[in-house]
Amino acid sequence: MTRTPLIAANWKMNPLPEGALEKDSAYRPQSGIETIVFPTFLDMQSCLEAGLPTGAQYGHPDSVGAHTGDVSMTMLKKAGCQFVLCGHSERRRDHREEDSDVVAQAESALRNGLHPVICVGETESERRTKRHKQIVERQVRVLPLREIVTIAYEPVWAIGTGVTPTPEQAQDMHAFIRSLVPDARRETIRILYGGSLTADNALEFFGQPDIDGGLVGGASLKPAVFRAIVLAGVQARS
Ligand code: PEP
Repeated sequence: MTRTPLIAANWKMNPLPEGALEKDSAYRPQSGIETIVFPTFLDMQSCLEAGLPTGAQYGHPDSVGAHTGDVSMTMLKKAGCQFVLCGHSERRRDHREEDSDVVAQAESALRNGLHPVICVGETESERRTKRHKQIVERQVRVLPLREIVTIAYEPVWAIGTGVTPTPEQAQDMHAFIRSLVPDARRETIRILYGGSLTADNALEFFGQPDIDGGLVGGASLKPAVFRAIVLAGVQARS
């Protein structure tokens, strides 16, 4: 089974990288690979107008209502957005999002015709105490896996730290996550790796059989580095 690799740029609370909207932008889709950018809400419209496949970093599951500061999935869809991140560990941490909130977001995204990219991953202490599979299983089992969704495995201890699992450890977790997916979707679901990906390590991760691309934070803010990571994604499947 060949799954088209996907490389997603999570720009978090940062301004647009230089040249992101230009014709020769590193963030434009290339042949043989898909890309997504996740800008702030303020930059979403300009990314969409520039023709970049664009997602939101969060969407509220309710369509409208008294939720100060939030934007709903319904509004994101209406604005032209195609993708949405659900359950990024920084949201789980900063906004106390629980598994049930992440499921509600993913289900609302699907109802509204958005493609959810759902983040899962264990903390450093959960890995140290060998509970990483148990935690990730808990996070994955509740997800709407009969639908078309993407999972991003992001060990929390690897995000923004420069520390990563070995590609083999990541592959082991990806294969485990895939084993939790119902038969009908098991071979087609894309499972991305995220956590301190760089131009230097991307190829090793993307070369693993169950790693279908990456969710890239810090390195995605540097266009030349992001371009190299996308090329690694192409190279890994050629
Ligand atoms: C992320 O925030 O999703 C991420 C993977 O960050 P970084 O690449 O900076 O570790």
